[in-house]
Amino acid sequence: MPIADKMVTMVEAASMIRKMFEEGIRMRKKYGADNVFDFSLGNPDVPPPPVVKQTLLDLINDEKTTHGYMPNTGYPQVRQAVADYLNKEYGISLTPELIVMTVGAAGALNDILRALANPGEDILVPAPYFVGYHQYAFVSGTRLKPVSSLSNFHLDLAAVEDAIDENTRVMLINSPNNPTGAVYTKSELKELGEVLQRASQKYGRRIYLVSDEPYRRIAYDVEVPSVFDAYPHTILLTSYSKELSLAGERIGYMAIHPDAEDAQMIAAAAGVVNTMTVVNAPSLFQQVVGRLQGISVDTAIYRRRRDLFCEGLQKAGYRFDIPQGAFYLFPESPIENDVEFVKVLKENQILAVPGTGFGGPGYFRLSYAVPDAIIKKSFGGFKKALDSV
Ligand code: PLP
Repeated sequence: MPIADKMVTMVEAASMIRKMFEEGIRMRKKYGADNVFDFSLGNPDVPPPPVVKQTLLDLINDEKTTHGYMPNTGYPQVRQAVADYLNKEYGISLTPELIVMTVGAAGALNDILRALANPGEDILVPAPYFVGYHQYAFVSGTRLKPVSSLSNFHLDLAAVEDAIDENTRVMLINSPNNPTGAVYTKSELKELGEVLQRASQKYGRRIYLVSDEPYRRIAYDVEVPSVFDAYPHTILLTSYSKELSLAGERIGYMAIHPDAEDAQMIAAAAGVVNTMTVVNAPSLFQQVVGRLQGISVDTAIYRRRRDLFCEGLQKAGYRFDIPQGAFYLFPESPIENDVEFVKVLKENQILAVPGTGFGGPGYFRLSYAVPDAIIKKSFGGFKKALDSV
């Protein structure tokens, strides 16, 4: 085998995703783009706010715009802008030293897992979870340890407390959640903080909370509570991939709670991981987001699609919880085997992702980062698929 043994299964998993992607292209060629209902990808199609383009133009025309190396944690003035924004939003007192600019949320996850956890240690994650977590755990040599959630996809705190042991280093959460759309409440986060505090004392070592929040600004009628209020030993990370529709530009950050144990050391370690991997987050887009704190895409578009999709699928007979955030629906598979049901959907030109891939068997994920017309036109196929099983 010309590649490392440990890479073989990772390549196989990646090739499954690639195959799904290629299948979409093949089907569009065969049936025409308007007749393929591809809900498999979470790639934002809502355009970035116009101010993003204007800011880029301003920066390009500004002689002071720089393109060189900078501190590995990012431009000080950009980290200051992020800290100022977060301090206002969360009522805390972050300094720029506690902000690390990263290559998207994925870059922040790669940094923080390597900064916090030794190889072989456990990263606890509520299931279902974003598939990328497997990969980030893999590169850090840590183990992803899924823990079950309640039937409404909220935290099962008893199960979390039960799953923690002397090998646990990080509790990784994601709210609003991909794939379920659940948004954790203030009280469940607070209780989670208490669980982590108790467990840290019990095992005599700090367990950190890492909160992955790239969908924070895409929430419907609910508050996305502050994780910083729940537990001081928290690292919040996010990106501009979804909130500014800049997924391809690879820009995000992590913020370490000022009261977290060894906060400064964690920031320094994350910066050192950057030197070993990506060196630094993209320079130009650091400067763009430094000027655009608190801005987001028009989330009314996602809300409209959510409502449209939920109504159509309910009428067709599917069962699911109405998502409170992000841009995914996670319906129950009408047959036990979600992988088989996704094949039935495909026979109706509908592309979805089996819940099994997210550690959520018996469900399937639909992304509504697609035009309204595609959603509307897909309902006939959904009905046919359900009637056929
Ligand atoms: N975390 C979650 C929950 C995601 O859904 C994604 C991307 O879809 C990421 C992290 C990675 O985001 P980014 O593109 O900013 O690296």
